[in-house]
Amino acid sequence: MGDCERARADKTTSIRTVAALEQRGLITAEALAPLNEVARRFAVSITPAVLEAIAEAGQPDGIARQYVPAVAELAQCDDERPDPIGDQHFSPLPGIVHRYPDRALLKPLHVCPVYCRFCFRREVVGPGSQALTEAELDAALGYIRDHPQIWEVILTGGDPLMLSPRRLGAIMDRLDGIDHVGVVRLHTRVPVADPERVDETAITALKRRTPVWVAIHVNHPDELTTAARRACAALADAGLPLLSQSVLLKGVNDDAAVLTRLFRALVALRIKPYYLHHPDLARGTGHFRPEIADGQALVAALRGRVSGLCQPTYVLDIPGGFGKVPIGQCYLETAEDGSHTVTDPDGGSHRYPRQV
Ligand SMILES: *Cc1c(COP(=O)(O)O)cnc(C)c1O
Ligand code: SF4
Repeated sequence: MGDCERARADKTTSIRTVAALEQRGLITAEALAPLNEVARRFAVSITPAVLEAIAEAGQPDGIARQYVPAVAELAQCDDERPDPIGDQHFSPLPGIVHRYPDRALLKPLHVCPVYCRFCFRREVVGPGSQALTEAELDAALGYIRDHPQIWEVILTGGDPLMLSPRRLGAIMDRLDGIDHVGVVRLHTRVPVADPERVDETAITALKRRTPVWVAIHVNHPDELTTAARRACAALADAGLPLLSQSVLLKGVNDDAAVLTRLFRALVALRIKPYYLHHPDLARGTGHFRPEIADGQALVAALRGRVSGLCQPTYVLDIPGGFGKVPIGQCYLETAEDGSHTVTDPDGGSHRYPRQV
């Protein structure tokens, strides 16, 4: 390949090998051998858009650490598990996870634009993983049809925006045909990791009868490049309500100033910060997990100082499949006589009476 062609390939091809990471100067030559071992266990992919964001970021680590494999991933502790939030236990058939009565996950594929180093599904996502076959997709949609208590279908994966607009549109059409499905929610990394995919055909695929909410996964403000902002604006302009979900990650965003910048940038993009997840106990991700007390202090630092629109709920998905719960600091204590003590954002205590 001539130099000119190589330059073009670099702009359009995702990095999927450790050797290519070394050529790009993202890892050192000494790290090649151990990182090849990491890549054998967990998929690697970094899109051209993310490579560009890393190159342009004020604090490149905030992005790079999320995607560039690290030797620390070879370390595993006893509490870590292959299926940290117990999805398997709530999966009645391939492609469905039904843990809560009124909503179910529909996972048509296991491919993502990038592979996040802290992902809780890291043992099931990857380019080698099978998408649902047509028969499995039929069965999954049949399950949703047969369970009238399912009011919301959450399209996830993998990343549903990695489907061709034709296949995504076909799934949306079939969900439209199920009367009890009131809302579809789509969880995606694509608007930040591969923003070019958010084009008119992709948006048209989402605009069907059933209202669609889009939850965008983003962890660092520098990921919101010009291209990513354009993609988010296109979704909002199309009338799709937008949420964000972020993971609190050591060395990436465990800093009140970074989180403030992230949540303000999101709100300015018409995206409501929804969840700030404490990292799950996925194998080889210990270097990303902060102490919960540190997470609580960070979230408390934003309360009262930053707009309420910019406050997501800090949540933990209880290991083993017991569901998500808020784990922020508690502001209210109730005494034995039924009266309450409330803490204000500056730490002052106040009494609130019992209702008599
Ligand atoms: C996170 C999750 C949901 C969605 O939960 P919300 O609190 O509604 O965002 C649904 N099902 C499963 C299995 C989940 O892990
Ligand atoms: S995009 Fe989501 S599912 Fe895919 S690797 Fe990242 S966190 Fe995991």
